Amino acid sequence: MSCEPLSDKLTGYLDGELDPRSSGEVEAHLRTCVPCATRLERERRLRLAVQSQLKPMEAPDQLRKSVRAAIRAEVKPAPGRRVWIPTWAATAAALVLGLAGGWQLATLRGLRSVGSELATEVIAGHVRSLQGQHLTDIGSSEHHTVKPWFAGKLDFSPPVPDFSTQGFPLAGGRLDYLGERQVAALVYRRRQHVINLFVWPGGDSAAASSTISRRGYQIVHGAAGGMAYWAVSDLNATELAQFAQLTAAELSGKPSGP
Ligand SMILES: [Zn+2]
Repeated sequence: MSCEPLSDKLTGYLDGELDPRSSGEVEAHLRTCVPCATRLERERRLRLAVQSQLKPMEAPDQLRKSVRAAIRAEVKPAPGRRVWIPTWAATAAALVLGLAGGWQLATLRGLRSVGSELATEVIAGHVRSLQGQHLTDIGSSEHHTVKPWFAGKLDFSPPVPDFSTQGFPLAGGRLDYLGERQVAALVYRRRQHVINLFVWPGGDSAAASSTISRRGYQIVHGAAGGMAYWAVSDLNATELAQFAQLTAAELSGKPSGP
């Protein structure tokens, strides 16, 4: 198979709609043709990106109603005529409702796996920071020292909250890499526990913060004041939640407590 007929089959191949023979032909071509393989990969990534960025959507009520009404109208037998079972209408309705539902599911699944991948990276970042000598690039309990250190090293200026009076003294900061971008990692302590607070611009501020417990680590993440934050520690869930609350309040510009 040459490149020309393959381009017609690419979408079907990605959707798993080709018969085994055509599918085999496409695969054979992809093994030998770098441009086509690149194109397929690009298409695949684009789909994943769209899936993970789109907000879940439901079919509007009005659409559901009108589809159901159309079916009812078709099913009602006209006087003196034989009942015609409208397979097409039922199929169309199932398709419309199913598509909406399926899309929503796929989108949710996409979002969930993005969150879960990030959680894995956050834990890995935390563990990495505790191994060896790389907990902080700038070790200081002074946020007036840590905050300016980030200047020019990131494309944003991270907030460096001071929680010393609330029992979470700052230990320093470093640069880290999460979710394919550079982030600020702020290090706090609670007794003998270390808390890594990862911060970068973005996130949906309307989203409630959520807690993940995995492999003995607690993670709380959320967004406030245009910043996404992920706090991770082996500290107990209650105290980490308290830390996250302080963080959210500080980021949104509404610091609580003294
Ligand atoms: Zn080709």
